[in-house]
Amino acid sequence: HSHTTPRTAVVTGAGSRRGIGRATAHALAADGYHIAVLDLDKEAAEDSAREVAAAHDVQALGIAADVTDPDAVNAAADAVETALPPVGVLVNNAGITSPTRFLDVSAEEWDRIFDVNVRGSFLATRRLAPDMAARGFGRIIHLSSVSAERGGGVFGGVAYSAAKAALLGFSRALARELGPSGVTVNSVAPGLIDTNITDGKLAPERKAALVADIPMRRVGHVTDVAAVVAFLARPDSGYLTGVTYDVNGGSHIH
Ligand code: NAD
Repeated sequence: HSHTTPRTAVVTGAGSRRGIGRATAHALAADGYHIAVLDLDKEAAEDSAREVAAAHDVQALGIAADVTDPDAVNAAADAVETALPPVGVLVNNAGITSPTRFLDVSAEEWDRIFDVNVRGSFLATRRLAPDMAARGFGRIIHLSSVSAERGGGVFGGVAYSAAKAALLGFSRALARELGPSGVTVNSVAPGLIDTNITDGKLAPERKAALVADIPMRRVGHVTDVAAVVAFLARPDSGYLTGVTYDVNGGSHIH
């Protein structure tokens, strides 16, 4: 293992079988982190943890938790702290999207998108960051989106773009506050990644048109994103903070 102190990485939303979170859990485990998978879906969380533990020489724990619920987040973190070494990494990956156009977005839908993407990240970070700061080591990574930077245009609409942009502001402000404690806070902004998040609602013609416009001429793979998250989580990435890493195949160069 690459660490002198064994550490745990908490990855929210890492249940999804084809998702960025599960791939990220694998990448972090390959780097020697023990893994805690938090997901709304208990079976998926446990399956993911089993898969990660079987593939790498680490411990892994799958826990059901709704990141929008402070009690659930706190209870999950308690369970992680009881079972695994100290938490050094938090990947705020749990997220939901919606393509609803502005004139059709209800207040309820707006709130739901913000609850999972923004409040969920706030709650998990609020619970885990203080102990990272006290121990003098931490890596907090947010899953934003190219939608935050260019204003949608892939799948997500106004609510999703606004929520993912909120994460960038949160991430940057937090980076300033936690830097003196040895905790870095960064964001990853993926473009079109092949997962189940669009729930089959991205039309094949639309997808083909998007790919034609991507310099690398393909959709992103979950491993493309996981590799960057794992890089940001490395102990020797400690002079990178408040940064946003684009993982979009060149589709948005700015
Ligand atoms: P996914 O739908 O495959 O996985 C999301 C996971 O989050 C699921 O396992 C789901 O159960 C979990 N989840 C949802 N709500 C939750 C809640 N309230 N509490 C706990 N867990 C919850 O999605 P993905 O494509 O792997 O996306 C992962 C992250 O990357 C998201 O934040 C997403 O917005 C972001 N992202 C994805 C893409 C893409 O093209 N796939 C692009 C940019 C950003």
